[in-house]
Amino acid sequence: MPALLTQWLCVNRHCILAAAWEEGQGFERAAVEGFLVEKLEELKLNPWCGLCGSTKLHFETAPLPVDTVAQAMPGLQACEADQLLTREFYPRPKTN
Ligand SMILES: [Zn+2]
Repeated sequence: MPALLTQWLCVNRHCILAAAWEEGQGFERAAVEGFLVEKLEELKLNPWCGLCGSTKLHFETAPLPVDTVAQAMPGLQACEADQLLTREFYPRPKTN
């Protein structure tokens, strides 16, 4: 069974937060979505998209092309580093 990625996306599919997880490891989709909501509050992030300003957000879960979170981590960490650079240099929109 592949590892899964749950993303919290805006209507333009920009990802606000994401978590990789494995079914059968004590996780279920609703709990992962709840974890992302808690993480948003913990990190004091705004509940809207920092790229396009959309406040219409939804969760989407899809399989990763690997079987474990450990196998996915190098690619996910590279993606995270890219997103942090984008966040640093992209102008902040107003919410809509
Ligand atoms: Zn967006």
